[in-house]
Amino acid sequence: MIITKVMMMRNNLVFDSFDDALKEYAKENKVPIILDEGLSFLINIIKVSKTKKILEIGSAIGYSAIEIVKNTDSYVDTIERNLDMYNEAKKNIALANLNDKINIYNVDALESFDLFKHKKYDLIFIDAAKAQYKKFFQEFEILLNDNGIIICDNMNFHNLVNGNLDDMSRSLRGLVRKLSEFEAWLLENDKYLSSIYDIGDGMSISIKKE
Ligand code: SAH
Ligand code: MG
Repeated sequence: MIITKVMMMRNNLVFDSFDDALKEYAKENKVPIILDEGLSFLINIIKVSKTKKILEIGSAIGYSAIEIVKNTDSYVDTIERNLDMYNEAKKNIALANLNDKINIYNVDALESFDLFKHKKYDLIFIDAAKAQYKKFFQEFEILLNDNGIIICDNMNFHNLVNGNLDDMSRSLRGLVRKLSEFEAWLLENDKYLSSIYDIGDGMSISIKKE
């Protein structure tokens, strides 16, 4: 018997033709943008926490940053190391008329702390190289305001985390292991109240304790 799981849309986010074009571009070019379910979760967290200033690590084509500011009352600084992605994101942010709400930086997040050291954020969204999550977390957590929040995307990494390691290539295995290690480290880190949810591709939320 074949059991198919029907993935139903269980949110009522509204996408206009511009958003649809970004999603279509991402699909065609295999750019791993945030899933609708994850996006709606992120938007809700931003709204209930009254978050204003956000740092995103990993812009890709600017999709998540654009959707965040379109749907909430917030500002996003976003970091992208890949020049082609950066250019695409820059173009999309301008097309969306969001140059006043999104600042994008074409730098490697792990080599550019000085650019951000005088800033403060209510929320940091980590969505870049999956093997480096702990490094991103440790490098940027100091920029969080009191009661600040750190959210990480792709904690299930396409359902491979907790999957059978024998079936994976060496590099994939290494990456999945790193994500599992990060998850354990996060849950043991008593400076934050952390939970990991099977939302979208798996998302963690860590709220800084007083
Ligand atoms: N947040 C986007 C998707 C980001 S995909 C969205 O949901 O729409 C991950 C991106 O992180 C890729 O474009 C990759 O180039 C970038 N990236 C990976 N490691 C990075 C690093 N160390 N610094 C900056 N960007 C990085
Ligand atoms: Mg992601």
